[in-house]
Amino acid sequence: MGTGKLTIDLDAIAANWRALDAMSAPTVQTAAVVKADAYGLGVAKVSRALAAAGARRFFVAVAEEGWAVREALGPGPEISVFGGHMAGDTDMLADLGLIPMLNSIDQVTRHFEALPGHPFGIQLDTGMNRLGMEPAEWAAVRDVVLEKGPRLLMSHLACADEPGHAMNAAQLARFVELTEGCGVPRSFAATGGILLGPDYHFELTRPGIGLYGGLPFEDAWPVVEVELPVIQIREIAKGESVGYANSFIAERRMIVATVSGGYADGITRRLSNQGVLFHGDVPCPILGRVSMDLIGVDVSHLEEVPQGLHLLGLQQSVDDIAETAGTIGYEVLTQLGHRYERRYARGRG
Ligand SMILES: *Cc1c(COP(=O)(O)O)cnc(C)c1O
Repeated sequence: MGTGKLTIDLDAIAANWRALDAMSAPTVQTAAVVKADAYGLGVAKVSRALAAAGARRFFVAVAEEGWAVREALGPGPEISVFGGHMAGDTDMLADLGLIPMLNSIDQVTRHFEALPGHPFGIQLDTGMNRLGMEPAEWAAVRDVVLEKGPRLLMSHLACADEPGHAMNAAQLARFVELTEGCGVPRSFAATGGILLGPDYHFELTRPGIGLYGGLPFEDAWPVVEVELPVIQIREIAKGESVGYANSFIAERRMIVATVSGGYADGITRRLSNQGVLFHGDVPCPILGRVSMDLIGVDVSHLEEVPQGLHLLGLQQSVDDIAETAGTIGYEVLTQLGHRYERRYARGRG
């Protein structure tokens, strides 16, 4: 087998959902965000595992993503679309029974004209300035909208991964001001918001990254493991180079393993001469540039010739990689790509 192995622990995802669910009161429903192919981990298998754990409401980014979720789950569970009702979405929303979170007066108008009586929610902007109606827009259509019985009023936090950030309380106050007394279920918290405590929970929470083992959910079960096979081992002398552009020059004799995996597998070039792979608990530094399909790794200090080295696993999380690469765990996860041999394990929970 020449490709890397990506192992996804569906029981760990289910256990993470249950753990996040247990952080809010029993009266608070916990949904699951499965956009971007369940953060790259495979939306059909992940959605089924989450449904089996008890999730009844799912969120995707765009209507196109709803198809795979509906196919995996059948007609029961609610599937909502953050992007709302875009031109061209009408048939998909109707046929798949998706619930758009309407983001503007234009979307509200489109939805009421194209699909009268079809369920919808409303997304409000409370300061992030990304999606959702501005307070003035909301004031203009609020009465008309409430008359049609929205399923949900929601908004999203910009700084929830920084518990001390003043933006959290400011957005919360605005959300309460915009929605108090509407008599409609509300949702405000993603993973970070759940951790901010009960004031942020309202009637429905929407965790994503925490389900998949990423920060800010520090107590998450690890979900992904990536092992890259060693294709070749060679000895190099002092003064020899490794990889493109000679960016690594050996200062001593070394043993170099060439592993199968590269930036085409979502292993960012930012790890060149910076990142490490693991043999058991032993870190093995990346030598030279990460190329499209291959990475050179220092294994001089190992007592045996490894068959494979771990990029992700118990020794190194997506957030560890992200820190080295100057990005976030979300990006590391969603970039992993389609060349791995994927295995779905049932390990925990
Ligand atoms: C992606 C997203 C979520 C999930 O966020 P996490 O930080 O991954 O838990 C929730 N709500 C909205 C609007 C999102 O875009």
